[in-house]
Amino acid sequence: MKTSVVLLGASGSIGSQTLDVLRQYRDRFELAAFSVGRRTEIIDSVIAEFHPGFLTVKEEKDAEFFRRKYPEIRVYSGDEGLLELISQSGADMVINALTGYIGLRPTVCALECGKMLALANKESLVMGGKIVTDLAKKKGILIRPIDSEHSAIFQALQGNKKEQVEKLIITASGGSFRNRTRKELENVTVSEALAHPNWSMGKKITIDSATMMNKGFEVIEAHWLFDMDYDRIETVLHPESIVHSLVEYKDGAMIAELGTADMRVPIQYALLYPERMPNTTKKLHLPDIGSLTFREMSFERYPLLKLAYDAGRQGGNLGAALNGANEAAVKLFLEEKISFLDIERYVEETLEVFRKNGMYRKDADLENILESDHWAYRYVKEKVKCLCRH
Ligand code: MG
Repeated sequence: MKTSVVLLGASGSIGSQTLDVLRQYRDRFELAAFSVGRRTEIIDSVIAEFHPGFLTVKEEKDAEFFRRKYPEIRVYSGDEGLLELISQSGADMVINALTGYIGLRPTVCALECGKMLALANKESLVMGGKIVTDLAKKKGILIRPIDSEHSAIFQALQGNKKEQVEKLIITASGGSFRNRTRKELENVTVSEALAHPNWSMGKKITIDSATMMNKGFEVIEAHWLFDMDYDRIETVLHPESIVHSLVEYKDGAMIAELGTADMRVPIQYALLYPERMPNTTKKLHLPDIGSLTFREMSFERYPLLKLAYDAGRQGGNLGAALNGANEAAVKLFLEEKISFLDIERYVEETLEVFRKNGMYRKDADLENILESDHWAYRYVKEKVKCLCRH
């Protein structure tokens, strides 16, 4: 029997690589449903190739167009449409490759519906880690991580006891500005920031890699995914991005996962878990690599990483505020309205004001978490708009 899947965010970087994986294992998977944001131009080819029965697009006017074009397909629109795909398509597995807060509700919905869940959407855990993991536990569902670092840890944990783990070590390439000092970051441009040395990814996550916010988010994700104290999660700079992360055990043994920078490997592992199947990925030839280097991570150089640890430790709705502020700041940087270092300044300030206003809630529900994200997003946008006017 084939596993039928819902793919959320099919046109993004992870989404299109997931389609590659589905293409490679046609005998194992069928695409029951998929969603696309604004890049509707990929829809025709996905339908022609995979024959799904359900589709969600962002805009209702696009939905009307595709309903007329494909009367045999159920077409939904908007955020609600993402939930419809999960509850109506009857699929076995949800692959959440959405970016942003928009991914949180579908994750909750997938778990509530008792689906298998392969998760690439970081915000689900950064914002809603407690709600999501409590629900997964209650439903007895194992969340299969897609992010390369968490996949590496997930793989390195196989066959071992969690109680015997000493710590998790998450590697960081350092992003596009890893060889620059903070002083040299004052006037960097958007195109410089977008030139990631190792991975080809979406714009938002490439900027998040340069500020190390992405690593901060990954620390929070690891805390929830692997139920590990923040004191036992470390980050280390590893410019080659060959070691995707490690687990250190009590006896001093470290188990790592190594590979090329190809996201199809972790995607495949999440989908086929616990099986491993041959693929066409370029294999790692160690003599070509020669040597691997590691450097101490610095909170002074990357203050957003420190901020993420702090927000993660306090928990509640702070992850959501952190995410909303960062999302707005990165957007404004990409629009060239603020500088690279302003991203940090605005995110830090927003969290400060959030706390000062008494908005922090330890036991935040889903609504409050989404509100906190939106509040922080608006706060940064408004603040910059005011400054631009003066
Ligand atoms: Mg990652």
